[in-house]
Amino acid sequence: ISTNRLDKFIANNIKISRRDVRLMLAQGRVMVDGNKAQNIDQLINRFSHITLDDKVLQSNAAIYIMLHKPTGVVSATKDSQHQTVIDLIEHPAKDELHIVGRLDLNTSGLVLLTNDSRWSEALTSPVHKVEKHYQVTLENKLTPKYIDAFAKGMYFEYEGITTAPAHLLIESEKTAHVVLTEGKYHQIKRMFGRFQNPVVGLHRSQVGDIVLDSQLAPRQWRELKQDEVNSVQ
Ligand code: URA
Repeated sequence: ISTNRLDKFIANNIKISRRDVRLMLAQGRVMVDGNKAQNIDQLINRFSHITLDDKVLQSNAAIYIMLHKPTGVVSATKDSQHQTVIDLIEHPAKDELHIVGRLDLNTSGLVLLTNDSRWSEALTSPVHKVEKHYQVTLENKLTPKYIDAFAKGMYFEYEGITTAPAHLLIESEKTAHVVLTEGKYHQIKRMFGRFQNPVVGLHRSQVGDIVLDSQLAPRQWRELKQDEVNSVQ
């Protein structure tokens, strides 16, 4: 991580001279990570929590966001062709965020973003088998034989793996609710592809215990509530 001198950071941040910063430090008005800062040449980084009097100049707070991703927006931080999920978020620390589990370009629904990699690993690590819920709309009619095939797992020749048991609930002739505990490349589309039944609509409604807020229209986002953050262990 790149470091910066404390006096330089403060001088730039609140547009005062380094001489005045020196005075503030001598007066004990600057705190770094909860300790009074004394030395002008103290080194800080972007994870340092810095306050002047009681004003936060840089926060090391973790950020957790849920976004209702629309179709046509890419799950990436940068893209030359399409708008990205980051482009939809107005947050001062948005450039620190990473995506917790991507969705395809034409898939909509719940995307989580955070700057807390320990938290995102708990959600994405294969060891934890976190459930991901999808609403699927098919081109052709479903039959009960899909249920067994999803539960048994399907062999994917390209990767040489068999998919983990997945739960499929038929909701209407051409719609299903699918629960996966993993996320192979285009997994749902490929699984229905085995039945020559193209997916015409795919929407993620839930990841673990975190449910997409029904108040969020496509393109809208909000920060997670404390209990949503804490639901991830
Ligand atoms: N399965 C897919 O095929 N696409 C997604 O975006 C998610 C799961």
